[in-house]
Amino acid sequence: MPFNPERFVNPKLLQVKPYQPGKPIAECQRELGLTDFIKMASNENPFGTSPHVTNHLAKEFSQLALYPDSNAYELKMALSKHLHVAVEQLILGNGSEDVLRMIIQTFVWGNQHILISEYAFVAYKILAQGLGVDIKEIPANQYSVDLDAILAATTSETRMIILANPNNPTGTYVNQLDFKRFLDALSSDIFVVCDEAYYEYIIEQDYPQTISMLNDYPNLIITRTFSKAYGLAGLRVGYGIARPSVVELINRNRQPFNINHIGQIAAKLALEDQDFVRKSILQNEQGKQQLSNGLERLGLSYLPSHGNFIAVEIILPGKDVFQELLQHGIIVRPLAPYKLENFFRITIGTSDDNTACLKVLEKVLQKEKVV
Ligand SMILES: *Cc1c(COP(=O)(O)O)cnc(C)c1O
Repeated sequence: MPFNPERFVNPKLLQVKPYQPGKPIAECQRELGLTDFIKMASNENPFGTSPHVTNHLAKEFSQLALYPDSNAYELKMALSKHLHVAVEQLILGNGSEDVLRMIIQTFVWGNQHILISEYAFVAYKILAQGLGVDIKEIPANQYSVDLDAILAATTSETRMIILANPNNPTGTYVNQLDFKRFLDALSSDIFVVCDEAYYEYIIEQDYPQTISMLNDYPNLIITRTFSKAYGLAGLRVGYGIARPSVVELINRNRQPFNINHIGQIAAKLALEDQDFVRKSILQNEQGKQQLSNGLERLGLSYLPSHGNFIAVEIILPGKDVFQELLQHGIIVRPLAPYKLENFFRITIGTSDDNTACLKVLEKVLQKEKVV
């Protein structure tokens, strides 16, 4: 009989469709033989990393032979000060996905399950299935999270709800009032994980200030990241914020050296340059306007976004547009993995990136006679 290792894994692992990341520039160069690509595919900061970070990293290379600080003391102190939370309320991860994995692993097991919204960030499903945990998708309301439907779907087996706020790839967000009402209606036996990867980009006044809710809601866990506005996606640093008793348990599932030394130093330096973050947010707003105007001029609909990306609807399959744009040096993200076959997602770029993207898009649409 042929050896079949599938017999030995948790059956949910067999349902995992591996994550399809944004196509790296080097891969596009190899495959297409073009040299110039603009990557608008992974919601990275188009302005790169703060020079305050990059200028100070070289002197850390002498430390590479040593293990990093397992407790990430300096970074935690800096975050604690920046966020006005106790050090004991922080858990660091190799990207916030690592934190999400630890959170699921810690609190959801046996026949308990997780609820997420339709169109929720696809990583949740992959993480849960890999850990052998059931995860159920609750239909969205148009493209927004339907909190009432999620509440109605909870059972005694529901242990956790994961909510991306704002959600990637739809860009919709839940406001403070609705979120509070949701928490009030929910049993505190169900954890609410609020994934705020785009927190820094949010300018809306009614966005939930979740840190100040931790006092009233012990079942709340917040995750954030240095991968987006802070421009450090390549170094993999994210964090969670919760009650100390919650953090202490999650920390038991943490690999002792999960944040590398350079990542710890870089994240601390990145926190020190809030000017860079402010400028990135401002330019993101301008870019959002520029792209929205351009898309409207081309007659394309899109989902109004509260992040640094826009999901664009198109008559052609999003995958075809992706290929066409790629041929012209623009990397975007098809949204078929979200069953949004007629959508693709553009990360808001620099003003030049946005201009180039709109120009190529116009060319593609003319060729396909959609415009
Ligand atoms: C990009 C993103 C993350 C960040 O992942 P990291 O592991 O911190 O790089 C988390 N959640 C959502 C919704 C995202 O879009």
